[in-house]
Amino acid sequence: MSPAQSSPAEAEESYDVVVVGAGFAGMYMLYRLRGLGFSARVYEQGDGVGGTWYWNRYPGARCDVESMQYSYSFSDELQQEWDWSERYAPQAEILKYANHVADRFDLRRDIQFNTRVERAVFDEQAKRWSVTVSDGRTVQAQFVVLATGCLSNARKPDIEGLENFGGSVYHTGSWPHEDVDFTGLRVGLIGTGSSGIQSAPIIAEQAKHLTVFQRTANFSIPARNAALTTGERDAFRKSYPEIRRFAREVARNGIYAEQPDRGALDDSDETRRGKYEKRWDRGGLTFMYVYNNLGLDRTANDTAADFVRGKIAEIVKDPATAKLLQPNSHPIGTKRICIDTDYFATFNRPNVSLVDIKTNPIQEITANAVRVAGRNHEVDALVLATGFDAMTGSVAKIDIRGPGGQTLNQKWAEGPKTYLGLMSAGFPNLFIIAGPGSPSVLSNMIVSIEQHVDWIADCLTHMREHGLAALEADSNAEEKWVAHVNEVAQGTLYPQANSWYMGANIPGKPRIFMPYIGGVGAYRRICDEVAAKGYEGFVMEAEAQPRRAMSG
Ligand code: NAP
Repeated sequence: MSPAQSSPAEAEESYDVVVVGAGFAGMYMLYRLRGLGFSARVYEQGDGVGGTWYWNRYPGARCDVESMQYSYSFSDELQQEWDWSERYAPQAEILKYANHVADRFDLRRDIQFNTRVERAVFDEQAKRWSVTVSDGRTVQAQFVVLATGCLSNARKPDIEGLENFGGSVYHTGSWPHEDVDFTGLRVGLIGTGSSGIQSAPIIAEQAKHLTVFQRTANFSIPARNAALTTGERDAFRKSYPEIRRFAREVARNGIYAEQPDRGALDDSDETRRGKYEKRWDRGGLTFMYVYNNLGLDRTANDTAADFVRGKIAEIVKDPATAKLLQPNSHPIGTKRICIDTDYFATFNRPNVSLVDIKTNPIQEITANAVRVAGRNHEVDALVLATGFDAMTGSVAKIDIRGPGGQTLNQKWAEGPKTYLGLMSAGFPNLFIIAGPGSPSVLSNMIVSIEQHVDWIADCLTHMREHGLAALEADSNAEEKWVAHVNEVAQGTLYPQANSWYMGANIPGKPRIFMPYIGGVGAYRRICDEVAAKGYEGFVMEAEAQPRRAMSG
């Protein structure tokens, strides 16, 4: 039933589906629900659409998946008409695209901005969720879809004295909407993941001095960003059907690219070096595609890691700084590989210095300095590029209570458990987009988002057609899936790194490899098979008595 069809009081408060978040997942979910005739309300805490691209406005922010592929595929008109300007679109352009999509498909009228979802409680009798939002209202919905994002809960580090710092403090993941001008300032940058590595060169151009505080050196590959020519865009557009098919079905990480057909140790040293050089010159994430065993075999991985360490030594003039910048703590690719523009060369600038905080952690932040090993590094502004409580952080902020009152946080206290990354047993009619246990962050996110949204849309249609009131992951199916996700991860080098994939960046967070590493194609086939077998591994409940049907 759509709100327009019911009484005015009820109409305001009851929906088929509440969607949490208006990023790329929430927007496409709304589009699909509307197309199927379900009534839906999206709540978004920001004052605009775009999710990650709304919040991450730090200098140099751009996507590490190429623009022509980091885009929706559901509308051919959209992908044929939208002009991406560069190989890797900057944040502002991706946000413009998100806004264009919202306007083009008239999505805003079902999105309530500046509103957080605070609580969701399942009513066992009614088989519906009561959802309380930050404006104080409680609405009813048969389904809740968490489109809360995997990297959306920005994390401030727990460093002594941070609150006493007298200058401005910025976090890359919640950057101000106004321009931030570092001209003439001494800036301290803490964190050298993708965000720190992207922002350092731009901040260095502006600031009087930039001090980078590095805990873990990271592998980074040049982006080789450039303007896209009309010819390049046209060639891509012509091949979109095949490119999208390949990304969904063949490429493990949802990115169309040449696939490796041999291992690193199958080639001679000279051939291998030539291949690495070629990929280094081409730039981008596909550096890891040179060979098919870089994520599996440590000796093979070392050949790629040594190559990159060698490049760092070539680029960085001061040998001591170069040595500090060479990652040695984890196999290459087991932490999200970074894509940069002139990151390592930035350390050749006279106004940039690197401070090792691995050997000597930050002792304290004072009103005007960061103290390390007894020395005060004076700074006027601090940039925290310290990452996110990834994958579960934003879900955990919502008080979600299933039948019997168990909270999702209680259930996930020892680590997140889901069936297919889509649902967690004990929480009926609650879907997660790109949740732990799905390929999500190991893939081109938009490929994964579209697959999840389409699967959920099909599932809701199935339920409507079969008069089903509730659907829930079966706990045995969930246990088997969790075991499978772990088993696949344990067969790779990934668990060897203290990464946010493992929850290792959050003190006290259980160490579990959260994303599913089996590849988007294999995963899609599993999800499709589950649906084809009548939603195998899910428990369904029929309508108890004739109740109003879902709209449509
Ligand atoms: P991140 O990869 O988690 O990096 C955080 C950095 O902060 C690490 O260097 C970490 O050191 C350091 N850090 C954290 N807590 C600290 C503390 N208490 N003291 C000192 N250092 C501390 O976060 P991110 O760079 O924001 O990137 C997160 C993910 O977002 C990426 O992996 C990527 O998936 C995505 N992202 C993508 C793009 C893109 O598309 N180009 C750009 C930005 C982000 P340790 O490593 O030692 O923990």
